[in-house]
Amino acid sequence: MYLTKSDFNVARECPTKLYYKKLRYPSLLNENPFMEFLADGGYMVEKMAKLLFPDGREMECSGANPEEAFSAAKRILEEAENVVLFEPTILAGRLSARIDILEKRGNVVRLIEVKSTSVDTAADGPNPFRGSQGRIKADKRSYLEDVTFQVMVFQRAFPDWQISPVLCVVDKARLATENSTTDKFHLEKQGGSRMASDVVYTGIPEALGSEHVLALVDVATEVGQLLPEITTAADELASSVDSEAPVRIAPLLRKGCKDCEYRVARSEQRNGFRECWGPLAEVEPHVLDFYRLGNLRPPAGADPVTFLVNQGKAGLLDIPESWLSGSYAPRQKIQLEHTDPPQEYLNAQIREVLRSHQYPLHFIDFEASRAALPYHEGMHPYQQAAFQWSCHTIAEPGGEVIHTEWINVEQAFSNFQFARSLRDVIGTSGTVYVWSSFEQTALRDIREHLDAMGEDDPDLAQWLRDLGDRDNPRVVDMEKLTKDYHFHPRMGGRTSIKVVLPAVWENNSALWEHPLFAKYFRQDKNGKPIDPYKTLEAFSDSDSGEDFDLVQEGTAAVRAYQDLVFGRGAENDDARNALKQQLLQYCELDTAAMVMIWMHWTGSAQGGC
Ligand code: SF4
Repeated sequence: MYLTKSDFNVARECPTKLYYKKLRYPSLLNENPFMEFLADGGYMVEKMAKLLFPDGREMECSGANPEEAFSAAKRILEEAENVVLFEPTILAGRLSARIDILEKRGNVVRLIEVKSTSVDTAADGPNPFRGSQGRIKADKRSYLEDVTFQVMVFQRAFPDWQISPVLCVVDKARLATENSTTDKFHLEKQGGSRMASDVVYTGIPEALGSEHVLALVDVATEVGQLLPEITTAADELASSVDSEAPVRIAPLLRKGCKDCEYRVARSEQRNGFRECWGPLAEVEPHVLDFYRLGNLRPPAGADPVTFLVNQGKAGLLDIPESWLSGSYAPRQKIQLEHTDPPQEYLNAQIREVLRSHQYPLHFIDFEASRAALPYHEGMHPYQQAAFQWSCHTIAEPGGEVIHTEWINVEQAFSNFQFARSLRDVIGTSGTVYVWSSFEQTALRDIREHLDAMGEDDPDLAQWLRDLGDRDNPRVVDMEKLTKDYHFHPRMGGRTSIKVVLPAVWENNSALWEHPLFAKYFRQDKNGKPIDPYKTLEAFSDSDSGEDFDLVQEGTAAVRAYQDLVFGRGAENDDARNALKQQLLQYCELDTAAMVMIWMHWTGSAQGGC
């Protein structure tokens, strides 16, 4: 058994995870491997990087057993004076590294790791991985550790060669041109399997030399600094897999366990979380479900979870009130006070607040993407492309609820059309309800695009400036209202609309019969109303019979949009319609959910105020 670089990366988060990974325990990350593959457009970044090396050779036996793959790479590296290899496997003892791009010139080797993370070479200075104090930036450290691991393995395998480590990342300072946009990268299924898709580039490869949007950053100094620590850690971890069965490194239970990928459904037989936590995994309500857990202040700066676990406790109600501090304390106190006995908390003051808002009331929600490779020429990597909005409007007290929506389905820059169509609906009067700061951030970004792209529209610029202003009383954040005035034990420590709606829906039967929302009413086998997000329809591609991935949250919406505009939707009308309908129903439910929650708060679903 080898310790691969992905094993190493996982074990750096938590060494115990290595055991579960090696034994393929059920993981939340495995739920949809194809979705993982599509995440953040990394496959396009990797393809672009490889296209910069036209003589590169893909190592075909990379998928075979590691020894064979290594022998093949070794033979080529030793025989060829100059060569570029893609994905060669390198072995040293129990360590294994598959290197994205290896460029050999004599006995000098450039080891290039490709990541879809970004730097801004114009703003970050010559060393984008270090902060102003010269320290390695915390959010870039894992990428540098990854390269360091590979350098260590390569050095052991080929001790006489000189290694120059490079991180190839997306450069936000560059602008996309015709040959460097998303639409030039296609996935082609191989052997009927999406997982075996090939990435096909349809632009002009020769043009990419000057038109790419990548930065190849020399990280030799950082690797030199990290090498002693990474060497020790890798050797220790390798010893835990150096036998027929891996050895489980004892868990350190802490607040980071909250987001552990092995915290799977209780029904799973092999359940990593349960094995780590033992009987404390079953405690309900659990300390890990506490709001802003990381902001608790236990004695001596200890990790709050470790502190409780050391006392044999893991209950949310075991958290002493004296640990609450700072601006999150009021919400934390509400959660503590209404969890046992479990009861809804709806502060009566919320009605006063809502009554002070001006009609018409607009409930809006946006879908937007920040893709590593821009959708359109003239855009920077990770610049926002807003592609859809939904709005429910109540013109006057007791008035009808009107739904409007807009979606872009063309391969065209859509930000300004997005803003203009929204302005036509919500204008300059009435209250605009949002959920979180996302919508205002998006509006401010579009405002900046107007200048950057030389779009001369002073009225639109002023409207965006006003609506994007954080202090504009016209815009009301319903998530903030939730934090201040509303709690239900079903929400636990979360306040996203995806948990607030089910809590409200389950407990407000008047909504089930409301003419606008009755279409979401379904019951499970026990007669309990199903979460409306779980009632959304999945559409199929009538050509292939393949189901489109259900859109129930924002990341899936971005993937569906990419598929609609640049993928299957661009090739086939049925797919285009199906993906469009899927996106429309999802965004509509987000703003319908806001209206339902507003009705619950005002009592208007029952014919109240
Ligand atoms: S539950 Fe905690 S200790 Fe166990 S694998 Fe997950 S993060 Fe590590």
